[in-house]
Amino acid sequence: MVLDNVRVREVGLRDGLQIIRAFLPTEHKKAWVDYCSKAGFQEIEATSFVPAKYIPQFVDAAEIVAHATAKPHLQVAAFTPNVKGAELALAAGVHKITCVVSSTESFNQANLRRSRADSLRDAKEIIRLRDAEHGNRSVVVQGALSSAFGCPFEGIVSDKTILELLEELLKLGVDEISVADTVGYANPTQVRRLCRAILRETGDLPVGLHLHDTRGTGLANVLAGLDTGIRYFDSSLGGLGGCPNAPRATGNITTEDLVYMLEAMGLNTGIDLEILFKSREFVRRQLPDVPMFGHITDAGLPKDFQVAQSQDSIPSDKKAS
Ligand code: ZN
Repeated sequence: MVLDNVRVREVGLRDGLQIIRAFLPTEHKKAWVDYCSKAGFQEIEATSFVPAKYIPQFVDAAEIVAHATAKPHLQVAAFTPNVKGAELALAAGVHKITCVVSSTESFNQANLRRSRADSLRDAKEIIRLRDAEHGNRSVVVQGALSSAFGCPFEGIVSDKTILELLEELLKLGVDEISVADTVGYANPTQVRRLCRAILRETGDLPVGLHLHDTRGTGLANVLAGLDTGIRYFDSSLGGLGGCPNAPRATGNITTEDLVYMLEAMGLNTGIDLEILFKSREFVRRQLPDVPMFGHITDAGLPKDFQVAQSQDSIPSDKKAS
């Protein structure tokens, strides 16, 4: 049975690479972008406009954006920790900017080297810049709620705190919300509860979930998110990733396993699994010392496995409601 279409956003080129010390040569990053485009991703987070003195991996951010934005049908997002980063991202021609505020002061300071109030002020200025330079609002500003399910320094974060920060971001006029379990603390009950509360406030605004599998709850949390109606998930090839400023943080949920699970459930992603598996082999060859995670590529697709049918290919009177 076809239920719905789901957007899976590959964030390996940003979240995946930010913790890897070995520099992945620009040509190889471009080849990874090519694989993403060929596999059918609608969106990738391609890079981060963070100062090279903090994360040298992204010294080629503008070049990667130029390469990715030349692909047809690919929305290209970039992480921007501050106004300067957003200026560079806009100049490079990104389609989407992710600006971020953390659930706690400690994590905001550790991750972004500024207070939460400063990050919210930055988000306001980023939206003003976008409107001034891109008056047609063609560049999407995504407001990300980082460490929304718990903080590595302050522990439990109340839903109230997250909903207050959400209200601030909505007041500023962000176009999308991303709810991030930056350090892999979330459990499915919590995801269901917080996402339902968030969706009550966001109306028609797209809401995405950014999950890490640090404690093995990643795909269970996806299912909880699906239950609330969320159809937009970040994931990373090979489960690469982590946060350089969070102790013992590990990777995002693995794209290969996520796409397999969604397709097996009848949820169409538009992503070609065979090309996705080839891209994993390509990146593995370029980063031989970096562990990659996931199950489906070890076990292989089940006998007689069929991908979900696209909603677009079904006559409208037969579509699931
Ligand atoms: Zn992350």
